[in-house]
Amino acid sequence: MSDRYDVVIIGAGPGGYVAAIRAAQLGLRTACIESRGRLGGTCLNIGCIASKALLQSSHKFAEAGRHLAEHGVKIGKPELDLASMMGRKDNVVTTLTRGVEFLFRKNKIDWVKGKGRIAAPGRVIVSGTDDASQEIEAGSIVIATGSASSPLTGIEIDEKRVVSSTGALALDRVPGRLVVIGGGYIGLELGSVWQRLGAKVTVVEVLDHIVPNMDRELGTALQRVLARSGMEFKLATKVADLRTGEDDLILELEGAERQSLTADVVLVSIGRRPYTEALGLEAIGVARDEHGRVVVDDGFATNIPGIYAIGDAIRGPMLAHKAEERESRLPNGSPGRRRLSTTMQSQRWSTPGRRLPQSVRLKKNSRRLRFLTGSGDSRSPPIPARGPTVTPRASSRSSRRARRTGYSASTLSAPMPAP
Ligand SMILES: Cc1cc2nc3c(=O)[nH]c(=O)nc-3n(C[C@H](O)[C@H](O)[C@H](O)COP(=O)(O)OP(=O)(O)OC[C@H]3O[C@@H](n4cnc5c(N)ncnc54)[C@H](O)[C@@H]3O)c2cc1C
Repeated sequence: MSDRYDVVIIGAGPGGYVAAIRAAQLGLRTACIESRGRLGGTCLNIGCIASKALLQSSHKFAEAGRHLAEHGVKIGKPELDLASMMGRKDNVVTTLTRGVEFLFRKNKIDWVKGKGRIAAPGRVIVSGTDDASQEIEAGSIVIATGSASSPLTGIEIDEKRVVSSTGALALDRVPGRLVVIGGGYIGLELGSVWQRLGAKVTVVEVLDHIVPNMDRELGTALQRVLARSGMEFKLATKVADLRTGEDDLILELEGAERQSLTADVVLVSIGRRPYTEALGLEAIGVARDEHGRVVVDDGFATNIPGIYAIGDAIRGPMLAHKAEERESRLPNGSPGRRRLSTTMQSQRWSTPGRRLPQSVRLKKNSRRLRFLTGSGDSRSPPIPARGPTVTPRASSRSSRRARRTGYSASTLSAPMPAP
């Protein structure tokens, strides 16, 4: 294996892995660097998929406990087996991350395991867990390093009693009292999981409404539904302090009045920040904004030729389907840039707002490939031919897997189900 690639992508979340597959299908020799030990990024491992698996299981538990009797189905009081519920979630995650590994193998993408750092345009250093490092040459580099939970000043996350979304996806018992700091969709989603399983959940939000990135009316309607199911809200309220007692966590709140609140577990969910440190961006002069997001133009190019960025690492909504399908315009500029922008462009297949099954998307992609590679569009440069494009089909194995787990590759960016 040579260490020279047409495209090197840093990060294998929905931004990075989709870009890698498209680049490879377009005939570019592609490597994807991922440090997590599993492909799929935040979304598959500790985000969308893991949380949706728990939402589904907790919904079934709540339904069995509260609503089946209304239909004349008497099953007695359901008993929670949390370990099995978590085991199912882990199986769903493993199945899907292995699916991405399969797509990498099928498309001949090299997964380079370790942490990537850009030493210079066209040069990436990868440090492995054993301190060994390897240098890779790249025609173009794509930063797809995603995001991490934002910390709350003065509050230390131990992922046991004071947790981020990652810890909230893996609690080993149902907390009696859970306080969620932040009324965004991640906090509400995980709050409703634990509330359905029996926790008393209180959401503290500094604004006077929940889900600030959504339509105000939707937020009000959602709050009404969640309140009806037992969730409490303290809006226009700030957490001024969090103390750790022997058994309790004590929160001091500042709102219309000062009050304290006790909890067994506190989930800090006040948003996410781009994960762009330690990539060596300052040293090579890649511009970032005041929030640390990489600044790109509408073809995803940074200010340094040959370096691109996508997904949560750039400006825009931090959502998986956005990472997969960033808007782009037809490219201009240097051939290298045009070639990679064409790869990015090729990610934009479906009509905005409409999701197609992955097999259909990929078939459409190969049709689009013919359009991009040649005939007819003088704006699109030719893509170097490297054998036939692989168009993965939904195999009967993957359909069986989808039936078993309830998730398929096309579920990866499905909208959040109603709590
Ligand atoms: C609990 C939760 C629920 C969510 N639910 C939804 C949802 O329902 N719908 C939705 O659209 N979005 C959801 N999201 C957001 C979604 O997960 C992100 O928007 C999406 O994962 C962003 O994709 P990405 O490819 O930009 O980055 P990520 O998925 O974060 O992937 C980046 C990858 O890069 C790796 N990496 C970082 N730095 C390096 C480095 N230097 N070298 C090598 N590898 C590196 C990381 O290990 C990571 O695996 C949710 C997030 C969370 C936390």
